[in-house]
Amino acid sequence: MSNDISPFPPEFLSRLKLIAGDTKYETIIKALSSTRPTTLRVNTLKTSANSLIATLGKLGFSLEPVSWSKEAFILTSGTLRALSETEPYKKGELYVQSLSSMLPPLILTPLPDDRVLDIAAAPGSKTTQMASMMENRGEIVANDTSLARIYRLKANMATQGATIAHVSRDDGRAIWKRYPEYFDKALVDVPCSMEGRFNAAEPKSYQDWSVKKVKDLSRLQRWLLRSAISATKPGGTIVYSTCTMSPEENEDVVDWILEKENGNVVLEDAHLESLTSDTPLPQWGSRTYSLDIKKTLRIYPSLLMEGFYVAKFKKLKSSLPKIFDQ
Ligand code: SAM
Repeated sequence: MSNDISPFPPEFLSRLKLIAGDTKYETIIKALSSTRPTTLRVNTLKTSANSLIATLGKLGFSLEPVSWSKEAFILTSGTLRALSETEPYKKGELYVQSLSSMLPPLILTPLPDDRVLDIAAAPGSKTTQMASMMENRGEIVANDTSLARIYRLKANMATQGATIAHVSRDDGRAIWKRYPEYFDKALVDVPCSMEGRFNAAEPKSYQDWSVKKVKDLSRLQRWLLRSAISATKPGGTIVYSTCTMSPEENEDVVDWILEKENGNVVLEDAHLESLTSDTPLPQWGSRTYSLDIKKTLRIYPSLLMEGFYVAKFKKLKSSLPKIFDQ
């Protein structure tokens, strides 16, 4: 049955049908019109999954595990409001985070002693997740341009005990000049049109959407990704992610960078075992993408997950832009 009373912008809906196909379209609209359960990540810098389950269990909360991460849980009894009043929450033993948002760090896999760039980091969901994965050993440069969001980033880092992260406030598009080929790994979790997080009950989530905005963001995303590649050592890994469905912000950006970097970077498989995903688009408009685009991860909104897109690159060769040779 088609959902004629959907509140979303008509142009968004007609594009979505083309992107996802008729059957998937109905499922996505249903997902964008429902409320997802609260999900959280255990902060292993402060506690273990078993200990957190036991403590929260005594307080009347139940957690259900997620197959693709030992640290991810779904809250199956108890409310977010009640959870945020508990000691484990206040002490930073857990972090409330959407399941999709946990994927990019899991795909990047930062290790203890790595040097990591988080080029658009605030409010720090993924910075704190990476500090936890790195056992607080090594270095994270957590960069963002928004002062208000940096304030929240710093507060989250403090509560979560992420002591290896240093905050910087550079335009990410130029940060490579300060850190040319310095990092082992880079996370490029870009500003996007957030279509994967649209919520029918919250007009604010979709009312500013437009195709023009999608196209403007696509330009910014390209240069953030290019900068992160220039800031990563040859042999390093770069993960690009969005919480949107527009091909202009996903496959287009990835295909563009493959062409621009001309063999300096290649795509690696971004899929996680036991995580169900959707098919990346092989083409959009007049553009047919590299066959390797199938290695990228496209997830449409569901009753459990927000819509997300993740691509993983390996940098094979040095690739500093020409303006650096001065
Ligand atoms: N990675 C964050 C997390 O997991 O908590 C979410 C990042 S959000 C999707 C995108 C961020 O990009 C915003 O905080 C925004 O302020 C920042 N941003 C926008 N333009 C930027 C730029 N030119 N350079 C660096 N950051 C930018």
